[in-house]
Amino acid sequence: MTASDMDEPPTTSSGFEPNADELLARNAAYAEAFDDHDLAVAPRRQLAIVACMDSRMAIFGILGLEHGDAHVIRNAGGVITDDVIRSLCVSQRALGTREILLLHHTNCGLQNVSDDDFKAQLERETGIKPWWSLESFVDPYTDVAQSIRRLELSPFIAHKDHIRGFVYEVETGLLHEVTRGD
Ligand code: ZN
Repeated sequence: MTASDMDEPPTTSSGFEPNADELLARNAAYAEAFDDHDLAVAPRRQLAIVACMDSRMAIFGILGLEHGDAHVIRNAGGVITDDVIRSLCVSQRALGTREILLLHHTNCGLQNVSDDDFKAQLERETGIKPWWSLESFVDPYTDVAQSIRRLELSPFIAHKDHIRGFVYEVETGLLHEVTRGD
């Protein structure tokens, strides 16, 4: 999603058509050619990736990965939340991953949005004050560095020797590594 999407959420009056029926038909074709039945539940590369949910980021394609290579954990922003820690905990302890890559990106929907304004608006509309943080940010490089620090501080992340973070440039398809000092 982009910041402009967040300003003007799509509505049913804009000619929206649900996708599920068409996608189910596509799945039938997918299953005809299915060849992944031998894949193990544990990722082959012992790799877990935490990424933003942005629709422009095809994680496996960006990194040249194959099915079965890695866990991909996604949310708005690729933020290290308690639930991401939960997934990483299962990934490392139950399914053997040893390396974590973080993928944030330019032109993110969470960029330059006010946490306070967003939450105040939700509270006004619903009567419920959100108990979670929106985790908006200004600079994606700083945000990746923040996420790396959260992982390093978590007592539940057992394997911290191979954590690296990147900003994906939606304009070029290139990844830029974030160093700890960013
Ligand atoms: Zn994003």
